Amino acid sequence: MSSPVLLCDIGNVLVSFDFSRAAARFAEIGPLGKDEVLRVLDPLKGPLESGALMGDSFVEQGMQMIQFPGTKDEFSDIWCGIFSRNEAMEKTLAALDPELPKHLLSNTSDLHKEYLLRTFPVFGHFTDGVYSYLAKSMKPERSIFETAIAQLNLDPAQTFYIDDLGPNIETALELGFQAFHYRMDDHASLDSALQQWISGL
Ligand SMILES: [Mg+2]
Repeated sequence: MSSPVLLCDIGNVLVSFDFSRAAARFAEIGPLGKDEVLRVLDPLKGPLESGALMGDSFVEQGMQMIQFPGTKDEFSDIWCGIFSRNEAMEKTLAALDPELPKHLLSNTSDLHKEYLLRTFPVFGHFTDGVYSYLAKSMKPERSIFETAIAQLNLDPAQTFYIDDLGPNIETALELGFQAFHYRMDDHASLDSALQQWISGL
């Protein structure tokens, strides 16, 4: 049967991200300016994260759209080079019981998910996850949360869910999760809420 689980968003929770960093590097190498790169690639983000466009096709289309003069690998490296560690979260996770199951729930693409999991040691704490590009649904839609409940065998009432975006928290609360609205500039609140949750288990 289901038991207490920690369920965690990725972006601006486990790692921070900044798309403008990739845009700046594309602008250094190619003919378009940074703002133009962001404007041109932005419409591809939704299809990429909802699974309508897979990473390989995105790289090919994106390279054409911004007239990128480098290789596919160079384009992918830049596209993935937008993330930074969140050391406070690394400490929090390292202090938790290793037996407490920890899973991921993220709006992300195949490119970013694979890059993140092989690059940042913090993902070693997590055993499984539900990702929008595979679930074919994106937060804050209920459907991706329902997929997570089914695939990860979650009891929402026993699941502590962390996300940085209000609409995602709202859906999680509607479905009965113990949802925590995370802010990187107030990490201490997460530690308090986690301690309170764990002491009540
Ligand atoms: Mg996020």
